[in-house]
Amino acid sequence: MSSSRQSTRESLKRLRPYVAGKGFTEISRRYGLDPTDIVKLGSNENPYGPSPKVFEALKNVSPERYPEPEELMEGLARYTGSPQEMIVIGAGMDGVMDTLTRLFLEKGDRTFIPTPTFSYYEILTVLAGAEPLFSPRSPDFRVCERIFEEAKMAFICSPNNPTGNALKEEELCGLLETTEAIVFLDEAYVEFAERSLAELVSRYENLVVGRTLSKAFGLAGMRLGYALMPEWMAREYRRAAPPFFGISCASVAAGAAALADLDFMNESVRKIRMERSRLQKEIRSYPSQANFLYLKTEEASDSFAEKFLQKGIIIRDCRSFRGAGENHVRVTVGTPAENDRFLAAFREIRR
Ligand code: PMP
Repeated sequence: MSSSRQSTRESLKRLRPYVAGKGFTEISRRYGLDPTDIVKLGSNENPYGPSPKVFEALKNVSPERYPEPEELMEGLARYTGSPQEMIVIGAGMDGVMDTLTRLFLEKGDRTFIPTPTFSYYEILTVLAGAEPLFSPRSPDFRVCERIFEEAKMAFICSPNNPTGNALKEEELCGLLETTEAIVFLDEAYVEFAERSLAELVSRYENLVVGRTLSKAFGLAGMRLGYALMPEWMAREYRRAAPPFFGISCASVAAGAAALADLDFMNESVRKIRMERSRLQKEIRSYPSQANFLYLKTEEASDSFAEKFLQKGIIIRDCRSFRGAGENHVRVTVGTPAENDRFLAAFREIRR
């Protein structure tokens, strides 16, 4: 029995839950496959994993202690070239965005979200009791020239998940100069792109750039993200963040070790970019500056993705991305062997 005292908030009735890419366990159980035969290209992970130094560092973690983030913060400052006063951390970039929306959004506020894009922006908006305003991207996936005037926050992803295109500096400056909204630029995939726009944080008081160690650094399972923001905002962030910023001893140790071995990260990015261009030519997907490719399908994307699943290859059906329609899938760039398996299946399925 439930009473009004037990019911969840009225504004959450509109919540569309986050849909993650499928995992090894689910697919091996559903199709009776050996997990080691499954190729997972549905969650934009890095198949090369983190630097070997991360595994060494994890051996020395003291799980009975609360985390101490100093070394990690020093590593982030070195890597980004930003002072620590402008850097904040969280449990994945998801955790960083969670704290930021708690800081800025309340009932009645509006957010600006160019679609299709990462769905957590919409979820966080609704969780805050605010209202998302969607702006469909152009046919070549560009963001419109002005952030809607009513918006308190704007979420712009570059390179964009799932379309893979990046925002130009002039476009971002144009947006920033004509808005008072807080602009969250999501650079989760920036290491795979031509360039970052993070340096603009020192020029604009309303720009935040979100980053993560989940992608290029191969630490998705550690849930470690960060953001670069003006000092005033970082001070407020630290007031609203959960104790220990939601991070763990393991994620701090892994993050610090990964940041101390940039050669490893750069090499895995190099390999992924090479494979990205090989795959893109063969499957004729849209160009991409990320570690995934966005592909238009002739048949419905769910049945197209299902045919790959039956062969033990997980790709992402994009129907759950608002504004992506029914005919797009997203394929993460894997190792050469994984990509060969995907391509062999692609040739058969497309025939
Ligand atoms: N932003 C985008 C665009 C993403 O695709 C993801 C990962 N799915 C995230 C943020 C969240 O990353 P993290 O693992 O750091 O929470």
